[in-house]
Amino acid sequence: MTIYLDYNATSPVHPEVADLVYKMMVFEFGNAGSRTHEFGVEAKRAVELARGKVANIVKADKTEVIFTSGATESNNIAILGLQEYAVISRKNHIITTKIEHKSVLEPIEHLVNKGFEVTYLNVDENGQIDVKELENALRDETFLVSIMHINNETGSVQPLEEASKILSSHDAYFHVDAAQSFGKYPYDLDNPRIDLISASGHKLYAPKGIGALIMRRRGFLKPPLKPIYFGGGQEKGLRPGTLAVPLIAGFGLACELAQKNALAWCEHASLLKKELIRSLQSLDAKFIDKKTSPYVLNFSVPGVNSEAAMVMLKGIAAVSNGSACTSSSYTPSHVLLAMGLCQEQIAGSIRVSWSHQTTAVPSDEICRIMKGLL
Ligand code: PMP
Repeated sequence: MTIYLDYNATSPVHPEVADLVYKMMVFEFGNAGSRTHEFGVEAKRAVELARGKVANIVKADKTEVIFTSGATESNNIAILGLQEYAVISRKNHIITTKIEHKSVLEPIEHLVNKGFEVTYLNVDENGQIDVKELENALRDETFLVSIMHINNETGSVQPLEEASKILSSHDAYFHVDAAQSFGKYPYDLDNPRIDLISASGHKLYAPKGIGALIMRRRGFLKPPLKPIYFGGGQEKGLRPGTLAVPLIAGFGLACELAQKNALAWCEHASLLKKELIRSLQSLDAKFIDKKTSPYVLNFSVPGVNSEAAMVMLKGIAAVSNGSACTSSSYTPSHVLLAMGLCQEQIAGSIRVSWSHQTTAVPSDEICRIMKGLL
């Protein structure tokens, strides 16, 4: 049976979460907006319980959380929602990195097409930004700094603590796309200097189609986000539409489970990573493993093309050679290009990602297949 090793693309729903979602769909199916009967009241109660559990992951208050359909939508609301504030306060500059997910890069490009300016921070060969470059890029007109936490392709962890320190003397809003880390990697996101955090349910054993945006207050002041679409006023008017109560309840439970277990999950994941690296070393493989997430390894074996490797790995291990969102296109990864990797390394790059549920990565089998392709 094929071993699933593409957890950075998506994760299976935890059975307890699936049970709760089923119960909420079939039996406790009320509309959280119905105030005239107990079905609605119960649904609202479930939503508010889940909101608290999501908030707890980053020590936020539950009134600072809105539910969205996933990190893509959260990123769009965080970035495009600041446009009106930028115009009113005569600020026109954004800072982001060259390795963001498309759901950050494209809304920013949309603003650039409207006349905003953007500085893209470089990354080094480990996929890390240099906070000095962030410091130098800041202007009086900078209203938004958007830096991801963990990169989906390489697992590189950005220095959010240091970035927060640099930003402590600046009033730009600080947004972090935490799709790959929220709940799974229990570090850095508690920092009160981070104003906006995007989270995704389906990377955390909750269903697809649910996520959250955390909007931390500065004192009593909420981030000045304005809606990018309109409707029934739900979720503070920022994400109108009938609340997906079963998915929200499921996401809340997934967060509760993550909060209890994330440290143990990280420990287990680190052991799997060490074992895979140890096996691959015999092949002179190149890795991205400095300051990276314990859940993923991006590697290449000189002389082995990743497409050929994936054909050979069919039936053994489900891995990826880029982000799943762009895997239909064969353009080289913008992340690996930004890291300055050579064409051969990019063409050979394979992403293997796992979870606490992965009992073992078939490292020897993977190495044997790689060797056969040399
Ligand atoms: N940002 C990153 C870093 C991601 O990995 C992903 C998922 N590939 C997203 C954003 C989009 O998340 P979602 O699928 O929840 O829209």
